[in-house]
Amino acid sequence: MLASTFNKLAPLTRCVCVSQRCSAILSPGSSRHYATGSDNDLIVIGSGPGGYVAAIKAAQLGMKTICIEKNPTLGGTCLNVGCIPSKALLNNSHLYHLAVDKDLHNRGIEMTGVKLNLEKMMAQKDKAVKGLTGGIAHLFKQNKVTSLKGHGKISGPNQVTVIKEDGSSEIVTAKNILIATGSEVTPFPGIDIDEETVVTSTGALSLKKVPEKMIVIGAGVIGVELGSVWQRLGAAVTCVEFLGHVGGMGIDMEVSKHTQRILKKQGLDFRLETKVVSATRDGTNIRVAVEGVKNGKKEELVCDTLLVCIGRRPYTQNLGLQELNIQTDNRGRIPVNQRFQTSVPSIYAIGDCIAGPMLAHKAEDEGIICVEGMCGGAVHIDYNCVPSVIYTHPEVAWVGKTEEMLKEEGIAYNVGKFPLAANSRAKTIDDTDGFVKVLGDKKTDRILGVHFIGSVAGELINEAVLAMEYGASCEDVARVCHAHPTIAEALREAHLAAYSGKPINF
Ligand SMILES: Cc1cc2nc3c(=O)[nH]c(=O)nc-3n(C[C@H](O)[C@H](O)[C@H](O)COP(=O)(O)OP(=O)(O)OC[C@H]3O[C@@H](n4cnc5c(N)ncnc54)[C@H](O)[C@@H]3O)c2cc1C
Repeated sequence: MLASTFNKLAPLTRCVCVSQRCSAILSPGSSRHYATGSDNDLIVIGSGPGGYVAAIKAAQLGMKTICIEKNPTLGGTCLNVGCIPSKALLNNSHLYHLAVDKDLHNRGIEMTGVKLNLEKMMAQKDKAVKGLTGGIAHLFKQNKVTSLKGHGKISGPNQVTVIKEDGSSEIVTAKNILIATGSEVTPFPGIDIDEETVVTSTGALSLKKVPEKMIVIGAGVIGVELGSVWQRLGAAVTCVEFLGHVGGMGIDMEVSKHTQRILKKQGLDFRLETKVVSATRDGTNIRVAVEGVKNGKKEELVCDTLLVCIGRRPYTQNLGLQELNIQTDNRGRIPVNQRFQTSVPSIYAIGDCIAGPMLAHKAEDEGIICVEGMCGGAVHIDYNCVPSVIYTHPEVAWVGKTEEMLKEEGIAYNVGKFPLAANSRAKTIDDTDGFVKVLGDKKTDRILGVHFIGSVAGELINEAVLAMEYGASCEDVARVCHAHPTIAEALREAHLAAYSGKPINF
């Protein structure tokens, strides 16, 4: 519906940008006015999945758009030190694990002398990152988005000062400004990061050797993903988690418990309801003092690599918010209204620096809908339909409500479950860990939540998202023909079980 609305919108007025004719070479520390008046329609600060997607969409809608990025490469956390490099390592460490473990052997693929070449594995990851970040530069050119390198500081409701690496600065102006400055790792008080032995997720994506013993502080999504990578490559990994479950906030408890069991079987060790008190270096060792959250029991764990993975916080440093009287909330997030406008109407914000799940696809969707809104379009996102995925093996994916949420909200529901052990494709490929769990409204049969543990759960959850976005009932999905043999049939069977109480194959 939105697409057709926008095709009918007249392109926004275009003006000749003064700067594109200006080729003066500036000396370090000097300043220039890049473009005067409101000849630019939009300045996007940050080129992560929120910012770069918003910039491209804005340009496609006819807006004259500038995107400012302080890092040498485009793509933000996601492409440089987040989703992309972590998934490259998850994939390749899984393949390595299949080769060294008995898995391939049991399938009749016998190998001797399997060796890890960590440098090569890292090189493949770097190649993927390079290709994708370079791809954004290409897309910017193709869509005529002006890309500026430097730190953007908002210096007026319609003005941003770009501070360059050499100390020079330039001023750009536009009708609207979009803040997409993302997030940064939350530091652990008293633990100094060197990104070599005491690392954040960033350092954990580029370790030079496989740790002997790794302790991960936090068994949330990123913690279990990166813990899995290094455990598969040979490290003894212990995840210390304050909460009583793995997988972070928003995960269904039954799914969390099952996931923990599978990961434990693979070799990951978990200390739940345990808090890290301190970490001290002792030669090449790191001594980590931990304490039971409930029983107060003190213990010391020792490792050679400590991964601090306790979450991320919005990044709004030196952005000029205070000068414009834009306040942040108690978690450092920028408050916005339903159109993503801050308290200054010409300044918008999206992605990790505002409230909501810190996910790349959430940032992208907000970016698109926000710039469409600037052109007069409707602005609406159903956050209940934003999926989450943990890319371990098997993958864990979900969308909508958990059983705990439904109980708390007093909503009566049906549960439909189907184990992958009863799915023909999963059996055929001998990859049967996991299940699908569908929660349907008891009165209306509308799908309320879908929870999936399985090797391709991250791909298949999109079918559930589509169904939920269109307000489908469990019966709707159960009556849709699914190709055989596929894991997707397990999804269908779980919907069938939710509405009729009876799957066919289980
Ligand atoms: C290890 C890891 C794995 C992850 N895996 C996934 C995953 O599988 N799926 C998923 O959905 N999410 C994942 N995430 C989260 C995801 O990366 C973020 O939610 C997403 O990148 C947020 O996008 P964003 O555009 O809001 O911000 P970011 O991607 O953080 O981008 C913000 C950009 O703004 C720039 N910037 C900041 N301030 C300024 C300034 N003043 N001037 C100029 N530039 C500035 C920054 O340099 C950065 O490039 C992962 C994160 C990590 C750390």
